[in-house]
Amino acid sequence: TKGAAMVTAVASRVQAQRKRIDQVLALFQLTREQLVGVQGKMRAELEYGLKRQTHPLATVKMLPTYVCGMPDGTEKGKFLALDLGGTNFRVLLVKIRSGRRSVRMYNKIFAIPLEIMQGTGEELFDHIVQCIADFLDYMGLKGAQLPLGFTFSFPCRQTSIDKGTLVGWTKGFKATDCEGEDVVDMLREAIKRRNEFDLDIVAVVNDTVGTLMTCGYEDPNCEIGLIAGTGSNLCYMEEMRNIELVEGDEGKMCINTEWGGFGDNGCIDDIRTQYDTEVDEGSLNPGKQRYEKMTSGMYLGEIVRQILIDLTKQGLLFRGQISERLRTRGIFETKFLSQIESDRLALLQVRRILQQLGLDSTCEDSIVVKEVCGAVSRRAAQLCGAGLAAVVEKRREDQGLEHLRITVGVDGTLYKLHPHFSRILQETVKELAPRCDVAFVLSEDGSGKGAALITAVAKRFHPPCNE
Ligand code: BGC
Ligand code: MG
Repeated sequence: TKGAAMVTAVASRVQAQRKRIDQVLALFQLTREQLVGVQGKMRAELEYGLKRQTHPLATVKMLPTYVCGMPDGTEKGKFLALDLGGTNFRVLLVKIRSGRRSVRMYNKIFAIPLEIMQGTGEELFDHIVQCIADFLDYMGLKGAQLPLGFTFSFPCRQTSIDKGTLVGWTKGFKATDCEGEDVVDMLREAIKRRNEFDLDIVAVVNDTVGTLMTCGYEDPNCEIGLIAGTGSNLCYMEEMRNIELVEGDEGKMCINTEWGGFGDNGCIDDIRTQYDTEVDEGSLNPGKQRYEKMTSGMYLGEIVRQILIDLTKQGLLFRGQISERLRTRGIFETKFLSQIESDRLALLQVRRILQQLGLDSTCEDSIVVKEVCGAVSRRAAQLCGAGLAAVVEKRREDQGLEHLRITVGVDGTLYKLHPHFSRILQETVKELAPRCDVAFVLSEDGSGKGAALITAVAKRFHPPCNE
């Protein structure tokens, strides 16, 4: 009977531990009401951002892009494109042929060392121009004077297609003396400093806009560009009459929502957890981009890590030992999360991945880690879906339609690599916006191709918006 008592004691301890783990996971399980709440608040923020009176304080900035239409297939020429702010920094040469809508691209990935991402603005732009020089050399194009489209994946306030003032850095960037400056001017000045070649900088474009243009090139129903990658953001075609910051009521203009800032006024604090607060506080931009920090690749792994630390402290994981590795920021990149959550993966393989990350786990540990990853990425996909549902419903109502068919062009490592993110996102949109038929198209290299297409359009008609 002494043995039996011990077995019971162990069983009830295991049960109590399980209960505590479930309590933590439950914080990430949003009810339908909560998701509807997020959708409604996002909808309100979209409106605030568009209205002149509420715009200055709006957390969803709704930035006009001065892109007023899709490429129509008549674009042609050779263009350079820069792609800064995603997983990789790239320089591209894009050749567009009209008629058959064929695009050929050559690109090279360059590293941006941490000390440059977080150094001075001059150093950052000198580095970028150095990379352009290397690329021109590599392609045998030295001395060629090509038009350039700059995909710059950060919030910019634009007054035309070729001007963009950086509102604030996001993600892993924090170079000094850039905020409040025109990034096109900074690039021009760096080119001048180098004094080796001349480039005609025609357009500065957000990556969401590049993605929308690339998909719109093939599908005229495409009116939304979505990035679920290192960062999170969405752009869409809005009626000019609703854009109070821009003169004119005819036609449409693409709006870069910068929805990553949703929640910065505390409006979704009811669903944020202590782990979200910890991730925010340890980031380069505390208090900012709260929605992005719950939904994008750069932060999901950090949320997971914070949860694992807490569970370990409670003695529920890793034998209660917090290793040096677990204390290290950034260890759970999107690709690891994606691997851990892959259904084809046996638990043994999960353990192996954790081992690679320097985390010694038991079989029970790896089950818990996988559950934690699942809860965090599921919530991310649902939140992103609730945001998207707000946008498509707005488009439906604005056009006075019973039913809306719309296509979303999507890019980003989280959407493309993660085994469940895209499905859960789509299910959520269907659930929350039942009167919208939303099709999702993967953008093939939207940032580069899109910048070139916009550059081509802008070169033809300057400015591109005929009022
Ligand atoms: C930036 C957006 C960008 C998104 C995706 C966010 O951090 O603020 O401008 O579109 O990341 O790259
Ligand atoms: Mg207007």
